Amino acid sequence: MTLTSKIKTLGEELGLDIIRITHTQSFPEVEKRIMESIYKGYIPLPTLEHQKKDLLSPVLKSFSKVKKRCDPLSILKKGKSVISVALGYLIEEEEGKWIKDEPVGRIAKYNAANFYYEIVLRLNKIINLINQETAFQYKSKSKSCYVPLVEKPLAQRAGVGWYGKNGIILTERYGSWVVLGEIITEVELEIDSPLNKDCGDCRVCIDSCPTQAIVAPYLIDRNRCLQYISERLMKVPLEFRDKWGDILYGCTICQEVCPRNKGIIPKKFKPTYGYIGLKIPLLPLLNFSEEQFRKYFAHNQIAMRSREVIKRNAVIALGNLGNPSSIIPLIKVLEEEENPLVRSHAAWALGKIGGKKSRTALEKALKNEFNQEVKVEIINALKMF
Ligand code: SF4
Ligand code: SF4
Repeated sequence: MTLTSKIKTLGEELGLDIIRITHTQSFPEVEKRIMESIYKGYIPLPTLEHQKKDLLSPVLKSFSKVKKRCDPLSILKKGKSVISVALGYLIEEEEGKWIKDEPVGRIAKYNAANFYYEIVLRLNKIINLINQETAFQYKSKSKSCYVPLVEKPLAQRAGVGWYGKNGIILTERYGSWVVLGEIITEVELEIDSPLNKDCGDCRVCIDSCPTQAIVAPYLIDRNRCLQYISERLMKVPLEFRDKWGDILYGCTICQEVCPRNKGIIPKKFKPTYGYIGLKIPLLPLLNFSEEQFRKYFAHNQIAMRSREVIKRNAVIALGNLGNPSSIIPLIKVLEEEENPLVRSHAAWALGKIGGKKSRTALEKALKNEFNQEVKVEIINALKMF
């Protein structure tokens, strides 16, 4: 049995759904595409605040990062092969533990647990096998999710799947409900070929995106993408707030509608790390201390985000759900929350839910508020009555 076959057999035994191999050549065409997206503004640059004292211009800094991400050898100089893997994450859901009629927010399927960590655990076992089989003569590195490498082009070249027009990798058996991961290794393995597949004439995802974020096939304007916005502390444009619905984190509408994702049977697999499920009661999130937040989302990717981002998301979802039980907690946010961005969205949510209590609280807040942007939001919220 060759080492390549042993790797694939072990991967299957470990529960990885797809294991393919490609070479380590760089992706100049992907680099060009990403840079074009940055110049067109479809990939927002880090803000000046994030850049801190960095003297490089944001564009230059991003350019050097993109170049590295598109070159597997920037991770491992003598790398010869990339093992690209996928793990299906459509799992059977447990019953929610919330009280009847309690407002709950939706979590994107890939975030119900930390599937990225699940994949890395398995990749590390494959690295152990490579080390033992080669008497530790070669270096190997594993990654998933927040990779320093472009993992979708690697997965496409290895034949794990092909690009959907929503920019997400589609696989034959699990549709786009997969997380990706890879190992780059100095060992020369047997290479697989890309799959000869594409979306054909379909454009369902493009037409179904609530914010028209898929500006052309395979091209996403992240400023408009609810997935991207739900991860970052930024003002959610007014015109997107109604479309936000009950999102607490992530958006998968362009995957839900994809015909390639229909009829996939959920696995019985029970994730070990960071399981939070697909729906979360929203009101407790408004009162979480930093410590409670970290504890609640421990081992889940949401813990990588700031508490304020998740609080802002919860506030918008509460506004859209319109449950009267949210009014008093939202007034508390408007009066006591330190972060002006969260206060702004609380004002909007109260305007959206309406009612006498909301209106009185907004009028009172307008007199006491010192932040100009929040004041504008309160005035806009009062116009909703
Ligand atoms: S994740 Fe949501 S907002 Fe982003 S492109 Fe897909 S459907 Fe549109
Ligand atoms: S919805 Fe259609 S166009 Fe979009 S990814 Fe799926 S198959 Fe491709």
